[in-house]
Amino acid sequence: MTLSTTGSQALFDRARTVIPGGVNSPVRAFGGVGGVPRFIDSAKGAWLTDVDGNRYVDLVCSWGPMILGHTHPDVLAAVTAAAAKGFSFGTPSENEVALAAEIVDRVEPLEQVRLVSSGTEATMSALRLARGATGRSVVVKFAGCYHGHVDALLAQAGSGVATFALPDSAGVPASAAGETVVLPYNDLAAVEELFAVRGEEIAAVITEAAPGNMGVVPPEPGFTEGLRRVTAAHGALLISDEVMTGFRASRSGWYGLETGPTGGNPGGYAGGAPDLFTFGKVMGGGFPAAAFGGRADLMANLAPDGPVYQAGTLSGNPVATAAGLATLHGCTEGLYPRLESTARTIADAASAALSAEGVAHRVQWAGSMFSIFFRDGQVRSFADAQAQDTRAYGRFFHAMLEAGVHLPPSAFEVWFVSDALDETALDTIRAALPLAAKAAAAA
Ligand SMILES: *Cc1c(COP(=O)(O)O)cnc(C)c1O
Repeated sequence: MTLSTTGSQALFDRARTVIPGGVNSPVRAFGGVGGVPRFIDSAKGAWLTDVDGNRYVDLVCSWGPMILGHTHPDVLAAVTAAAAKGFSFGTPSENEVALAAEIVDRVEPLEQVRLVSSGTEATMSALRLARGATGRSVVVKFAGCYHGHVDALLAQAGSGVATFALPDSAGVPASAAGETVVLPYNDLAAVEELFAVRGEEIAAVITEAAPGNMGVVPPEPGFTEGLRRVTAAHGALLISDEVMTGFRASRSGWYGLETGPTGGNPGGYAGGAPDLFTFGKVMGGGFPAAAFGGRADLMANLAPDGPVYQAGTLSGNPVATAAGLATLHGCTEGLYPRLESTARTIADAASAALSAEGVAHRVQWAGSMFSIFFRDGQVRSFADAQAQDTRAYGRFFHAMLEAGVHLPPSAFEVWFVSDALDETALDTIRAALPLAAKAAAAA
């Protein structure tokens, strides 16, 4: 039996006439797995309902933000109340102060944050600030790390870029990419060699705090600490991109895990905190809100007080900030052990099903974030991540979808869990796995 997808197919056909590729963000087009993307009509708790009335357990969670589950009653109430008071003022308002204070309070090295509307804007602005503050122009990033579709950072980026096997993007001038140096992830020797030669030109090193956009590839012990040491020695800034890990890996993001007593990579920031952080996803609660921040002396370089210009018509939007604040209020200490236990349950069940069919795979973790690579052996870098069986993943993905489980439509993405995944949802996942593993084995 196959699910009816006539409604999704009709909308996709129509979408392709008025929207390039039929989607407003490439990975949604199912290019990595084939087939018709499901057009979702509504979502509640752990479940998505598409326009044909099919229901799916959601393991994408809008790529992270829906950490409490869809249309959570507290967030819905906060959004409704905020919207009733006005949609956008173009003036300062109270919610943005409360959200900024909540973020500053959670991540110890932060003294100030500036709110923006997307993770891309956050990393773009953090780069401009780093270049403005140092008077240098070269930026270092790592292969497989995705920092949004900023010109200078669209080089060997993971995520949708990996899914579509684009080495780069057309439309990015050589001059923009020419100021970017891409190094292999987890390779501190490569960083040291580069700095020994070009250290005086480098404004910043930007890294995902724990990469999730090539699948989960956590920093090895000493890597983050080494980045801090090398950048500090040469007067360059270290930018930790926590757009995905922020308030998902722990209450204080990956920073909290690295510095906390358990888990992660304790002592990773023993050499000092990053200079700048970027956030998005969870902190917007499903609405467009993101942020970048750091020490007050560094942030003072931003307009209106300093010379680095940065602005936004909808920045700090009252409805988006209300959603973000209500979501963060739900992101208590107690949430993370629950998420981790749910994630373990799913990962263990998937791993057992794949093992039973002899499908090569590897599960990797960053807090409650995990992904499954369709290959054996440790994945330390983008090159390792690319050496997996994406065709087997495609078969696995479609069998899961057919059985009512919506996984990320790419082998290079995190399986995102929410607090709304109850026993019924977990049973649906468990029931779907054996056939999906068989499909992967047959690929
Ligand atoms: C999602 C993501 C971004 C981009 O955020 P958008 O809101 O999609 O622009 C940047 N960095 C990381 C690490 C991300 O996961």
